[in-house]
Amino acid sequence: MLKGKVAIVTGSTSGIGLGIAKELAKLGADIVLNGFGEASDIEKIRSGFERDQGVRCVYDASDMSKADAVRGMIAATIEKFDRLDILVNNAGIQFTAPVDEFPPARWQAILDINLSAAFHSIAMAVPHMKKQRWGRIVNIASAHGLVASTHKAAYVAAKHGLVGLTKVVGLETAGSGVTCNAVCPGWVRTPLVEKQISDIAADKHISQKEATNELLAEKQPSLEFVSPAQLGGTVAFLCSAAADQITGTTISIDGGWTAQ
Ligand code: NAD
Repeated sequence: MLKGKVAIVTGSTSGIGLGIAKELAKLGADIVLNGFGEASDIEKIRSGFERDQGVRCVYDASDMSKADAVRGMIAATIEKFDRLDILVNNAGIQFTAPVDEFPPARWQAILDINLSAAFHSIAMAVPHMKKQRWGRIVNIASAHGLVASTHKAAYVAAKHGLVGLTKVVGLETAGSGVTCNAVCPGWVRTPLVEKQISDIAADKHISQKEATNELLAEKQPSLEFVSPAQLGGTVAFLCSAAADQITGTTISIDGGWTAQ
């Protein structure tokens, strides 16, 4: 379905981004991997995609907190592959503290990586996608792009901002063959959430298992985690012809979180 298409997935060395990159590679897209990690682990992922899926896969180490690096990654991809069809803005970080104790440097880092990076990548990708008359931009927001929780001022602000950016880009590209949507996951068991489970366990002197149950019970009525593969499937759907008229909107995959 995606043979001959080129996809960038930011933050795809781990968690959700890796799940999305896997799904797109399975469907035949060439992949630009991005994110941090051990060079040998990243090379294993990269060469695994080429071997198992028969696609081209390159790794770009650009730091999504730096505007020039984000813009450079898009330019380098277009230069290398002569096209860019799918852009998944997924790289993200978390930090939790009450607003009056929130360190300004953490606020800035979350805004830079979780929101501004998407602005810079989209600004570079849109002219090219419009020229191709086909493009798919998928922003990985969160249930926290739609509703709030305590102690997540920067994350909730950035994710709400990302949903707003998605709407504007959906409008500005309407009718051009390019769509822009946001995917809003609930809890997914990745390193980003593992840390929050450990924090609950330490704070309340309970086991990891009890902390996991508490985390799910508080927000996610299904009491089950969303999987990276399910999110990959959702991105694949947004890249299909069935989704040609879906733009400027959000898709929640959150076990009922935001229905409450
Ligand atoms: P993760 O920590 O497993 O992965 C984050 C990825 O982003 C990694 O590949 C990491 O190397 C990369 N990254 C971090 N900072 C970067 C930077 N400056 N430049 C380039 N890459 C960078 O986290 P995850 O849970 O897979 O999160 C992925 C996205 O999904 C984030 O935007 C997160 O907010 C969102 N999300 C996660 C959940 C969840 O429950 N895990 C829920 C909703 C939304």
